[in-house]
Amino acid sequence: MTTVIDGKQTAASVVEAVTTAAAALERDAGRRPGLAVVIVGNDPASHAYVSSKSRMAKQCGFKSVQHTLPEETSQETLMALVAELNADPEIDGVLVQLPLPKHLDSEAVIQSIRPDKDVDGLHVVNAGKLATGDAETGLVSCTPAGAMILVRQIRGRDLSGLNALVIGRSNLFGKPMAQLLLAANATVTIGHSRSRDLPALARNADILVAAVGRAEMVKADWVKPGATVIDVGINRVPAPDKGEGKTRLVGDVAFAECAPVAGAISPVPGGVGPMTIAMLMANTVIAAYRAEGKPAPKF
Ligand code: NAP
Repeated sequence: MTTVIDGKQTAASVVEAVTTAAAALERDAGRRPGLAVVIVGNDPASHAYVSSKSRMAKQCGFKSVQHTLPEETSQETLMALVAELNADPEIDGVLVQLPLPKHLDSEAVIQSIRPDKDVDGLHVVNAGKLATGDAETGLVSCTPAGAMILVRQIRGRDLSGLNALVIGRSNLFGKPMAQLLLAANATVTIGHSRSRDLPALARNADILVAAVGRAEMVKADWVKPGATVIDVGINRVPAPDKGEGKTRLVGDVAFAECAPVAGAISPVPGGVGPMTIAMLMANTVIAAYRAEGKPAPKF
Protein backbone atom coordinates (compact mmCIF):
# COMPACT_ATOMS: atom_id res chain seq x y z
CA MET A 1 0.00 0.00 0.00
CA THR A 2 1.35 3.43 -0.95
CA THR A 3 1.39 6.07 1.79
CA VAL A 4 0.00 9.41 0.61
CA ILE A 5 1.92 11.93 2.68
CA ASP A 6 -0.44 14.34 4.44
CA GLY A 7 1.38 17.69 4.44
CA LYS A 8 -1.66 19.49 5.85
CA GLN A 9 -1.70 17.38 8.97
CA THR A 10 2.07 17.60 9.47
CA ALA A 11 1.99 21.37 8.93
CA ALA A 12 -0.79 21.61 11.54
CA SER A 13 1.39 19.80 14.10
CA VAL A 14 4.33 22.12 13.33
CA VAL A 15 2.06 25.15 13.78
CA GLU A 16 0.78 23.72 17.08
CA ALA A 17 4.37 23.27 18.33
CA VAL A 18 5.24 26.81 17.20
CA THR A 19 2.21 28.22 19.03
CA THR A 20 3.21 26.42 22.24
CA ALA A 21 6.81 27.67 21.92
CA ALA A 22 5.62 31.24 21.26
CA ALA A 23 3.40 31.17 24.37
CA ALA A 24 6.31 29.85 26.46
CA LEU A 25 8.55 32.65 25.19
CA GLU A 26 5.94 35.26 26.06
CA ARG A 27 5.66 33.77 29.55
CA ASP A 28 9.44 33.62 30.11
CA ALA A 29 10.74 36.66 28.23
CA GLY A 30 7.67 38.88 28.31
CA ARG A 31 7.42 39.28 24.56
CA ARG A 32 6.00 37.54 21.52
CA PRO A 33 7.97 36.52 18.42
CA GLY A 34 7.65 39.28 15.79
CA LEU A 35 7.33 38.70 12.04
CA ALA A 36 7.42 41.57 9.53
CA VAL A 37 6.29 40.87 5.97
CA VAL A 38 7.01 43.42 3.25
CA ILE A 39 5.17 43.44 -0.06
CA VAL A 40 5.78 45.79 -2.97
CA GLY A 41 3.26 46.27 -5.76
CA ASN A 42 -0.09 44.75 -6.69
CA ASP A 43 0.57 41.17 -7.77
CA PRO A 44 -2.62 39.35 -6.62
CA ALA A 45 -0.87 36.00 -6.01
CA SER A 46 1.78 37.69 -3.83
CA HIS A 47 -0.93 39.53 -1.87
CA ALA A 48 -2.72 36.23 -1.26
CA TYR A 49 0.53 34.61 0.00
CA VAL A 50 1.31 37.58 2.26
CA SER A 51 -2.20 37.63 3.76
CA SER A 52 -2.00 33.94 4.60
CA LYS A 53 1.46 34.42 6.18
CA SER A 54 0.21 37.34 8.31
CA ARG A 55 -2.91 35.37 9.30
CA MET A 56 -0.87 32.35 10.29
CA ALA A 57 1.56 34.52 12.30
CA LYS A 58 -1.37 35.90 14.29
CA GLN A 59 -2.75 32.39 14.78
CA CYS A 60 0.65 31.37 16.25
CA GLY A 61 0.42 34.27 18.73
CA PHE A 62 3.12 36.37 17.04
CA LYS A 63 3.33 40.10 16.72
CA SER A 64 2.57 40.30 13.00
CA VAL A 65 3.38 43.41 10.97
CA GLN A 66 2.68 43.91 7.28
CA HIS A 67 4.21 46.70 5.18
CA THR A 68 2.50 47.25 1.84
CA LEU A 69 4.49 49.51 -0.48
CA PRO A 70 3.39 50.90 -3.85
CA GLU A 71 4.63 49.44 -7.15
CA GLU A 72 6.85 52.50 -7.82
CA THR A 73 8.79 52.14 -4.52
CA SER A 74 12.50 52.91 -4.99
CA GLN A 75 15.36 50.61 -4.02
CA GLU A 76 16.44 53.16 -1.37
CA THR A 77 13.01 53.29 0.26
CA LEU A 78 12.74 49.51 0.39
CA MET A 79 16.28 49.07 1.74
CA ALA A 80 15.60 51.79 4.36
CA LEU A 81 12.53 49.86 5.55
CA VAL A 82 14.56 46.63 5.78
CA ALA A 83 17.22 48.51 7.79
CA GLU A 84 14.53 49.79 10.15
CA LEU A 85 13.13 46.26 10.65
CA ASN A 86 16.67 44.89 11.11
CA ALA A 87 17.12 47.32 14.01
CA ASP A 88 13.69 46.76 15.62
CA PRO A 89 14.09 44.59 18.75
CA GLU A 90 10.44 43.48 18.56
CA ILE A 91 10.94 42.00 15.07
CA ASP A 92 12.62 38.57 14.87
CA GLY A 93 11.85 37.73 11.25
CA VAL A 94 11.90 39.92 8.14
CA LEU A 95 10.41 38.57 4.94
CA VAL A 96 10.34 40.46 1.65
CA GLN A 97 7.80 38.80 -0.63
CA LEU A 98 9.23 37.80 -4.01
CA PRO A 99 9.07 38.47 -6.89
CA LEU A 100 9.68 42.21 -6.54
CA PRO A 101 8.73 44.60 -9.35
CA LYS A 102 11.30 44.48 -12.18
CA HIS A 103 12.98 47.82 -11.42
CA LEU A 104 14.12 46.55 -8.00
CA ASP A 105 17.25 44.48 -7.31
CA SER A 106 15.83 41.64 -5.19
CA GLU A 107 19.21 40.05 -4.47
CA ALA A 108 20.51 43.29 -2.90
CA VAL A 109 17.35 43.54 -0.77
CA ILE A 110 17.53 39.90 0.40
CA GLN A 111 21.22 40.20 1.25
CA SER A 112 20.52 43.35 3.29
CA ILE A 113 18.28 41.42 5.72
CA ARG A 114 20.15 40.56 8.92
CA PRO A 115 21.02 36.84 8.65
CA ASP A 116 19.59 36.14 12.12
CA LYS A 117 16.25 37.66 10.98
CA ASP A 118 16.32 36.05 7.50
CA VAL A 119 13.40 33.68 8.12
CA ASP A 120 13.22 32.82 4.40
CA GLY A 121 16.75 31.38 4.74
CA LEU A 122 17.94 33.04 1.53
CA HIS A 123 20.88 35.09 2.87
CA VAL A 124 24.31 33.82 1.76
CA VAL A 125 25.30 33.47 5.43
CA ASN A 126 22.42 31.06 6.01
CA ALA A 127 23.08 29.17 2.76
CA GLY A 128 26.74 28.92 3.84
CA LYS A 129 25.87 27.69 7.33
CA LEU A 130 23.67 24.98 5.83
CA ALA A 131 26.44 23.99 3.41
CA THR A 132 29.01 23.78 6.23
CA GLY A 133 26.72 21.81 8.53
CA ASP A 134 25.89 24.52 11.10
CA ALA A 135 22.33 23.61 12.04
CA GLU A 136 22.54 25.46 15.37
CA THR A 137 22.82 29.10 14.31
CA GLY A 138 21.56 29.22 10.71
CA LEU A 139 18.03 29.47 9.29
CA VAL A 140 17.02 27.04 6.54
CA SER A 141 14.91 27.95 3.49
CA CYS A 142 11.31 27.11 4.41
CA THR A 143 10.21 24.79 1.57
CA PRO A 144 13.20 22.42 1.76
CA ALA A 145 13.01 22.47 5.58
CA GLY A 146 9.35 21.42 5.28
CA ALA A 147 10.02 18.81 2.58
CA MET A 148 12.75 17.32 4.79
CA ILE A 149 10.27 16.84 7.65
CA LEU A 150 8.08 14.83 5.24
CA VAL A 151 11.09 12.73 4.17
CA ARG A 152 11.99 12.07 7.82
CA GLN A 153 8.41 10.97 8.56
CA ILE A 154 8.78 8.16 6.06
CA ARG A 155 12.50 7.31 6.22
CA GLY A 156 13.58 8.42 9.69
CA ARG A 157 16.38 10.84 10.61
CA ASP A 158 19.29 8.78 9.28
CA LEU A 159 19.27 8.25 5.52
CA SER A 160 22.51 6.24 5.48
CA GLY A 161 22.75 4.00 2.42
CA LEU A 162 19.83 5.63 0.60
CA ASN A 163 20.18 7.30 -2.80
CA ALA A 164 18.40 10.63 -3.22
CA LEU A 165 17.80 12.58 -6.43
CA VAL A 166 16.73 16.22 -6.25
CA ILE A 167 15.55 17.50 -9.63
CA GLY A 168 16.10 21.29 -9.66
CA ARG A 169 19.09 23.34 -8.47
CA SER A 170 17.59 26.67 -7.38
CA ASN A 171 18.99 28.55 -4.38
CA LEU A 172 15.45 28.63 -2.99
CA PHE A 173 14.87 24.89 -3.08
CA GLY A 174 17.11 22.44 -4.96
CA LYS A 175 20.47 23.32 -3.42
CA PRO A 176 19.30 23.58 0.22
CA MET A 177 17.24 20.37 -0.18
CA ALA A 178 20.32 18.54 -1.42
CA GLN A 179 22.30 19.87 1.56
CA LEU A 180 19.66 18.69 4.04
CA LEU A 181 19.57 15.20 2.50
CA LEU A 182 23.38 15.07 2.53
CA ALA A 183 23.49 16.17 6.17
CA ALA A 184 21.15 13.23 6.92
CA ASN A 185 23.71 10.88 5.24
CA ALA A 186 21.87 10.24 1.96
CA THR A 187 23.93 9.81 -1.20
CA VAL A 188 22.70 12.81 -3.16
CA THR A 189 22.48 13.58 -6.87
CA ILE A 190 21.20 16.92 -8.17
CA GLY A 191 19.48 16.82 -11.56
CA HIS A 192 18.71 19.87 -13.73
CA SER A 193 17.93 20.91 -17.28
CA ARG A 194 21.37 19.84 -18.53
CA SER A 195 21.34 16.39 -16.91
CA ARG A 196 21.55 13.41 -19.25
CA ASP A 197 18.93 10.68 -18.80
CA LEU A 198 17.04 11.92 -15.75
CA PRO A 199 14.68 8.91 -15.85
CA ALA A 200 17.67 6.59 -15.29
CA LEU A 201 18.97 8.75 -12.43
CA ALA A 202 15.47 8.78 -10.93
CA ARG A 203 15.07 4.99 -11.15
CA ASN A 204 18.10 4.70 -8.87
CA ALA A 205 16.61 7.02 -6.22
CA ASP A 206 15.15 5.75 -2.95
CA ILE A 207 14.13 9.36 -2.33
CA LEU A 208 13.01 11.33 -5.38
CA VAL A 209 12.37 15.05 -4.96
CA ALA A 210 11.03 17.04 -7.92
CA ALA A 211 11.21 20.87 -7.93
CA VAL A 212 11.20 21.87 -11.55
CA GLY A 213 7.99 23.70 -12.42
CA ARG A 214 6.98 21.35 -15.28
CA ALA A 215 3.55 19.80 -14.92
CA GLU A 216 3.65 16.02 -14.35
CA MET A 217 7.15 15.60 -15.80
CA VAL A 218 8.02 12.62 -13.58
CA LYS A 219 6.34 9.49 -14.97
CA ALA A 220 5.69 6.06 -13.46
CA ASP A 221 8.68 4.46 -15.21
CA TRP A 222 11.01 7.01 -13.53
CA VAL A 223 10.06 5.80 -10.05
CA LYS A 224 11.97 3.05 -8.26
CA PRO A 225 9.42 0.67 -6.70
CA GLY A 226 8.92 1.64 -3.05
CA ALA A 227 10.62 5.04 -3.42
CA THR A 228 9.66 8.08 -1.35
CA VAL A 229 8.50 10.72 -3.84
CA ILE A 230 8.30 14.36 -2.76
CA ASP A 231 6.59 16.67 -5.25
CA VAL A 232 7.46 20.33 -4.78
CA GLY A 233 6.17 21.65 -8.12
CA ILE A 234 3.13 23.89 -8.32
CA ASN A 235 1.74 24.14 -11.83
CA ARG A 236 -1.61 25.49 -12.93
CA VAL A 237 -3.01 23.60 -15.92
CA PRO A 238 -6.28 23.86 -17.88
CA ALA A 239 -9.09 21.67 -16.51
CA PRO A 240 -11.83 21.69 -19.17
CA ASP A 241 -13.62 18.87 -17.29
CA LYS A 242 -14.34 21.40 -14.48
CA GLY A 243 -15.86 23.87 -16.94
CA GLU A 244 -14.74 26.33 -19.59
CA GLY A 245 -11.65 28.33 -18.63
CA LYS A 246 -11.20 26.39 -15.35
CA THR A 247 -7.79 25.28 -14.10
CA ARG A 248 -6.33 22.94 -11.50
CA LEU A 249 -3.04 22.66 -9.63
CA VAL A 250 -0.74 19.75 -10.40
CA GLY A 251 2.79 18.96 -9.30
CA ASP A 252 5.92 17.96 -11.22
CA VAL A 253 5.01 14.30 -10.66
CA ALA A 254 2.25 12.49 -12.57
CA PHE A 255 0.57 11.48 -9.31
CA ALA A 256 -2.03 8.97 -10.57
CA GLU A 257 0.49 6.82 -12.43
CA CYS A 258 3.41 7.21 -9.96
CA ALA A 259 1.47 6.58 -6.74
CA PRO A 260 1.05 2.81 -7.28
CA VAL A 261 4.82 2.41 -7.84
CA ALA A 262 6.01 4.62 -4.97
CA GLY A 263 6.18 3.54 -1.34
CA ALA A 264 5.15 7.03 -0.24
CA ILE A 265 4.24 10.11 -2.26
CA SER A 266 3.29 13.69 -1.47
CA PRO A 267 0.26 15.05 -3.35
CA VAL A 268 -0.22 18.49 -4.91
CA PRO A 269 -2.00 20.29 -3.39
CA GLY A 270 -1.79 19.17 0.25
CA GLY A 271 1.81 17.92 0.37
CA VAL A 272 4.82 20.23 0.52
CA GLY A 273 2.76 23.43 0.03
CA PRO A 274 1.30 23.68 3.56
CA MET A 275 4.73 22.89 5.05
CA THR A 276 6.32 26.04 3.62
CA ILE A 277 4.25 28.48 5.64
CA ALA A 278 4.48 26.29 8.75
CA MET A 279 8.30 26.38 8.50
CA LEU A 280 8.23 30.17 8.12
CA MET A 281 6.51 30.26 11.51
CA ALA A 282 9.03 27.74 12.87
CA ASN A 283 11.97 29.88 11.65
CA THR A 284 10.44 32.98 13.28
CA VAL A 285 10.03 31.32 16.67
CA ILE A 286 13.58 29.88 16.38
CA ALA A 287 14.93 33.40 15.63
CA ALA A 288 13.02 34.82 18.60
CA TYR A 289 14.41 32.21 21.02
CA ARG A 290 17.94 32.89 19.79
CA ALA A 291 17.41 36.65 20.13
CA GLU A 292 16.50 36.02 23.79
CA GLY A 293 19.58 33.82 24.27
CA LYS A 294 17.43 30.71 24.82
CA PRO A 295 17.90 27.27 23.25
CA ALA A 296 15.66 27.26 20.17
CA PRO A 297 12.97 24.60 19.68
CA LYS A 298 13.70 21.95 17.05
CA PHE A 299 11.22 20.96 14.35
P1 NAP B 1 13.39 27.49 -10.51
O1 NAP B 1 14.25 28.46 -9.82
O2 NAP B 1 12.72 27.86 -11.79
O3 NAP B 1 14.26 26.17 -10.76
C1 NAP B 1 13.79 25.13 -11.55
C2 NAP B 1 14.87 24.09 -11.69
O4 NAP B 1 14.37 23.06 -12.53
C3 NAP B 1 16.16 24.60 -12.33
O5 NAP B 1 17.28 24.12 -11.63
C4 NAP B 1 16.11 24.03 -13.75
O6 NAP B 1 17.37 23.65 -14.27
C5 NAP B 1 15.32 22.75 -13.54
N1 NAP B 1 14.67 22.36 -14.77
C6 NAP B 1 13.93 23.11 -15.61
N2 NAP B 1 13.51 22.35 -16.66
C7 NAP B 1 14.01 21.12 -16.47
C8 NAP B 1 13.93 19.91 -17.19
N3 NAP B 1 13.25 19.82 -18.33
N4 NAP B 1 14.56 18.84 -16.70
C9 NAP B 1 15.26 18.90 -15.54
N5 NAP B 1 15.35 20.02 -14.81
C10 NAP B 1 14.74 21.12 -15.26
O7 NAP B 1 12.21 26.97 -9.57
P2 NAP B 1 12.12 26.77 -7.97
O8 NAP B 1 11.93 28.08 -7.31
O9 NAP B 1 13.18 25.85 -7.47
O10 NAP B 1 10.72 26.01 -7.91
C11 NAP B 1 10.50 24.78 -8.58
C12 NAP B 1 9.05 24.40 -8.48
O11 NAP B 1 8.69 24.30 -7.11
C13 NAP B 1 8.07 25.43 -9.07
O12 NAP B 1 6.97 24.73 -9.61
C14 NAP B 1 7.63 26.22 -7.88
O13 NAP B 1 6.34 26.78 -8.05
C15 NAP B 1 7.61 25.15 -6.82
N6 NAP B 1 7.79 25.68 -5.47
C16 NAP B 1 6.87 25.32 -4.55
C17 NAP B 1 6.97 25.79 -3.26
C18 NAP B 1 5.97 25.36 -2.24
O14 NAP B 1 5.74 26.05 -1.28
N7 NAP B 1 5.39 24.18 -2.41
C19 NAP B 1 8.01 26.65 -2.90
C20 NAP B 1 8.98 26.94 -3.85
C21 NAP B 1 8.85 26.47 -5.14
P3 NAP B 1 18.51 24.73 -14.67
O15 NAP B 1 19.09 25.19 -13.36
O16 NAP B 1 19.46 23.96 -15.49
O17 NAP B 1 17.81 25.83 -15.41
